[in-house]
Amino acid sequence: MSQRNITVIPGDGIGPDIIEATLKVLDKAGCDFNYEFADAGLTALEKHGELLPQKTLNLIEKNRVTLKGPLTTPIGEGFTSINVTLRKKFNLYANVRPVLSLKGTQARYDDIDIITIRENTEGMYSGAGQRVTNDGETAEAMSIITREGAERIATFAYELARKEGRKKVTAVHKANIMKSTSGLFLKVAREVGERYPDIQSEEMIVDATCMKLVMDPSQFDVIVTTNLFGDILSDLCAGLVGGLGMAPGANIGKDAAIFEAVHGSAPDIAGQNLANPTALLLGAIQMLEYLGMSDKAGRIRDAVRDTIAEGDHVTRDLGGESGTNEFTDAILARL
Ligand code: NAD
Repeated sequence: MSQRNITVIPGDGIGPDIIEATLKVLDKAGCDFNYEFADAGLTALEKHGELLPQKTLNLIEKNRVTLKGPLTTPIGEGFTSINVTLRKKFNLYANVRPVLSLKGTQARYDDIDIITIRENTEGMYSGAGQRVTNDGETAEAMSIITREGAERIATFAYELARKEGRKKVTAVHKANIMKSTSGLFLKVAREVGERYPDIQSEEMIVDATCMKLVMDPSQFDVIVTTNLFGDILSDLCAGLVGGLGMAPGANIGKDAAIFEAVHGSAPDIAGQNLANPTALLLGAIQMLEYLGMSDKAGRIRDAVRDTIAEGDHVTRDLGGESGTNEFTDAILARL
């Protein structure tokens, strides 16, 4: 079989460090990928004069699967977020954020295994109707929910639940107040749920969900929700398992998928052998699952989990004294 091409964007700050660690782990696990490297972010701006060169977009489109390090979006007029641009350009409608308790981390719970699926293109983040009145005293923004968008994300959630042998999908909403938008989302989510009698369907108001997540997260399995609620809930979930350093994310569309860590480029520790590569490694595991390589994903997950649980070679943010390289070597040794 020919090697599969993967587009790799090392990105900015700690990006190149954690990408290097992740590729070593993928190679050691025998993934046999051919990596095609591309620039984006500050690195691309410095080298090519633009944040997101056409060559990079072409590679993302050609290979369809991309592993991406964090990107620095320069502050100032005229720079739109690269991540938002990528989401829009490739219609990456599903943002999939799994969180899993790992022994050895300073987390509040040790039994969390939740996947949040956030609709990535509609809702309050569609950017529509942003307006401030001439006197500056009133601001408004439009939230857009379509049947098509709601059906697409709910179906994605149920299909993923079925594929991963999960038992329950919770549709999170605020239909009691936002009757039109959240109401439509809930109505469509209910209809989709009826097509999956093998999976338990639950619905929950977003504020109650926040409370229940903090008090008893083990009751959740798969959460599906609209853009803004998903943004907030997925960070809450990351906090429950020990913070953004442990949180990966996938942005999935019909023709392209981008896998990444949720954290940013951490310029304060870049190039100092201090970065924890766990979040990107977990993102690479999501990528392997997406490609149907579950056995390799499982082996890497076990090696990461055991290395963190043992605790002798972990990075500072996990309470250890090791650097990125020593932590990575310990994972490689387990593989
Ligand atoms: P950040 O996530 O980069 O850093 C926040 C804090 O967490 C810092 O103290 C950092 O050292 C620490 N940290 C983050 N990742 C770590 C890791 N893997 N190991 C150890 N410590 C880690 O957030 P920020 O400082 O707000 O953002 C920096 C830049 O990253 C900004 O330009 C922002 O736009 C960008 N950003 C990019 C993405 C992305 O590309 N997906 C996401 C968020 C932020």
